[in-house]
Amino acid sequence: MSNSHGFTLGMIAEYRGQKYRLIDVRPYRRLDGRDSQIMVWRSRCMTCGALFETTTPFRELTKATRRCSAHVQRTRQNVRAVVEAYVAGTLKLAAPPETSDTNRDAGRSAPPAYHATNRVRVRGQRLSPIIWQGRQWAVTKHGIECRDGTYAIAKSRLWEGWERHMAEKEWVDQADLAEALRIARQVHAKQAPGTMSQRTGKRGRAPT
Ligand SMILES: [Zn+2]
Repeated sequence: MSNSHGFTLGMIAEYRGQKYRLIDVRPYRRLDGRDSQIMVWRSRCMTCGALFETTTPFRELTKATRRCSAHVQRTRQNVRAVVEAYVAGTLKLAAPPETSDTNRDAGRSAPPAYHATNRVRVRGQRLSPIIWQGRQWAVTKHGIECRDGTYAIAKSRLWEGWERHMAEKEWVDQADLAEALRIARQVHAKQAPGTMSQRTGKRGRAPT
């Protein structure tokens, strides 16, 4: 059985030295409401060798997990701990040490910690005009967008607990996303819940 994109059920694909067998392609409704497809792959955990299944967006094996659920869980817990520490401001980064309560607010309005210069090939939608560029994420006029064009968060939805939601996704550069969210919430502050745009009163458009 084959489909128009040249993927055949049962085929073996390789990514980062790990082999994945394509076992299913299913219809899928994306977070933004669009109909899409996901691929189901079977592979062996790179930590323990156990068989596991992982799903990815269509034709995006780069977003497959590399480990069984038990070992993914362990990785996620580590990632989550780092993100929570980052958001709480207790993660020690290469920034000048400061004290006092006002620094938490100062951190929120601080300028970007970095600007990334790495190249990312756009495989999905073309990005809206970029305001800040991270390694994996960009703050744009639309909100936040994955630089490869495959994931976007509209500016009106920036306050919906994405740190927690995205911590589930192994492909996400969590520290980069955290910085993007911090900057985007400054840039698009007028979109915050309960804040109507002074000029037009319009809310942000839905994710595209
Ligand atoms: Zn494992």
